[in-house]
Amino acid sequence: MGRLILEKEIREAEICNPALGFAAETQSIEYRRDPLTGARCRINAKRANRVKEVASKGAGIEDLPRIPKEGCAFCPENVERMTPKFPDELIKGGRLKVGSAIVFPNLYPFSKYHGVAVFSEAHDAGLGEISPEGIRDCVRACVEFLSIIGERDPRAIYGSINWNYMPPAGASIVHPHLQVIADAIPTRFQEELIRCSESYYGSHGSSYWVDLIETERALGERMIREGPSVVWLASYAPRGNNEVLGILPGASSISGIDDAVLMELSDGLTRILRGYRDLGARSFNMSIVPGPLDRELEYYALNVRILSRPNPGSHYTSDCGFMERIHLESVVESMPEAVAERLRRYFA
Ligand SMILES: [Zn+2]
Repeated sequence: MGRLILEKEIREAEICNPALGFAAETQSIEYRRDPLTGARCRINAKRANRVKEVASKGAGIEDLPRIPKEGCAFCPENVERMTPKFPDELIKGGRLKVGSAIVFPNLYPFSKYHGVAVFSEAHDAGLGEISPEGIRDCVRACVEFLSIIGERDPRAIYGSINWNYMPPAGASIVHPHLQVIADAIPTRFQEELIRCSESYYGSHGSSYWVDLIETERALGERMIREGPSVVWLASYAPRGNNEVLGILPGASSISGIDDAVLMELSDGLTRILRGYRDLGARSFNMSIVPGPLDRELEYYALNVRILSRPNPGSHYTSDCGFMERIHLESVVESMPEAVAERLRRYFA
């Protein structure tokens, strides 16, 4: 076990602000590095106050122009008629049903195996309104999908479970749904997490994830909740606003996850989403990133990342600019320590 070194450098930028009669103003920018990957971000919490010429008026799901429930392919009355099926030899019957959830193929896949898992009754569910049981069923359906794929195609060992909620987060259909992907090729980020975890284990003789939890427990300032199987904390060097990292130190793959752990994970997610809603967020991305599905690794821990995105509306300012899309460095306007402080109460 070891304590991580969390690196940051604070740089000050001076401007003469017209709103202050051109008086000198100093703004602090924190340059932080992710302790595992070295990925960099820059945090200036004052950017949350900046005037946006095009600003969303805080639209939630209720304000979006959209097709009515009768025409929604993801609603229970239409799903069998309007969504595609997997070939029978992959999924018998074409679709996988688990509790209230149903998995069918993405009509336009970007992975060899690419499923959509729908929260059946959630057509109008605003942020924070999906029950822990609904999330559990949907994640369980994705886990079962991954396990079936693993039996049919033993090369497809890299999977993940993902959520784009609302159009600013990349959702083309508003009815809430998860996306489960599996392939022989990991995503670049998944590959980086696994490779860096292995390299950390090689040089420190301990799991990065266990050391991160120990470090954050000792520091306290970013810890949100330490449950029996899931630890929630605000990411030290976030990739997006209000980023929360959930770690399951007892598992690296997701294949063997039991119901109690899955329920703890789902319950934690609903609490964070309620916190997001109260912070004014109406859109988010989430990814559950396991290690290889066919084995348990000592040096890796199943982890989930969730971050807020701009609010939906006909016009809004994106949170992805040249820094994120080209320079691959995130500019963040929420202080991780403040995020942890705000979200902690949802676990009380
Ligand atoms: Zn619907």
